[in-house]
Amino acid sequence: MKIQDLEFKKFISESTVTEKVAELRKHINHDYKKKTPVFLPILNGSFMFAADLIKGLDISCQVSFVKISSYQGTQSTGQLKTLIGIEQSLFNQDIIIVEDIVDTGLTLQKIIEELTSLGTKSVEVVTLLRKKTAREKGVAIKYIGFDIDEEFVLGYGLDYDGLGRNLKEIYKADMPTPEEA
Ligand code: 5GP
Repeated sequence: MKIQDLEFKKFISESTVTEKVAELRKHINHDYKKKTPVFLPILNGSFMFAADLIKGLDISCQVSFVKISSYQGTQSTGQLKTLIGIEQSLFNQDIIIVEDIVDTGLTLQKIIEELTSLGTKSVEVVTLLRKKTAREKGVAIKYIGFDIDEEFVLGYGLDYDGLGRNLKEIYKADMPTPEEA
């Protein structure tokens, strides 16, 4: 399948994703039985995963979709990232961040710092995919769907240049590995 300039091939089937999402849901149901967590899915990539994961949870919970915006700091030359779209107080709340994919973990680190500074009771993360870098760096993620290598993936909410979010399966770019290149 070709999207823009890249060729993609099937990587994780719809049924494998469905099974994994059900497994993650079961763990969360168990761990949050006596709590009322607030799910914070990070848009846009996690919309499909979040919907499937949250649909059918037995626990009492809230859901608030948020987005990350990058802005140029006045003092810093680097790009700072901030959460936008939080519409309720998260003080003393149990938060579950819902991510599509964690690569370097830098985005996640910023989000966790920001949420912690709001006086949250606990902050945990559920991600559908985790890349090798995050794994090696030991980024703290409680619930992980699939561990993958350094491939570029799309589908099931994830895009390439804005396209491919609608696909039911997860695809990976058919690119030569660094050793082959
Ligand atoms: P990090 O800060 O962990 O390096 O980057 C995480 C973000 O980068 C994800 O939320 C996602 O938006 C984007 N990203 C990282 N790897 C991929 C990938 O393989 N495919 C797509 N579509 N987005 C990715």
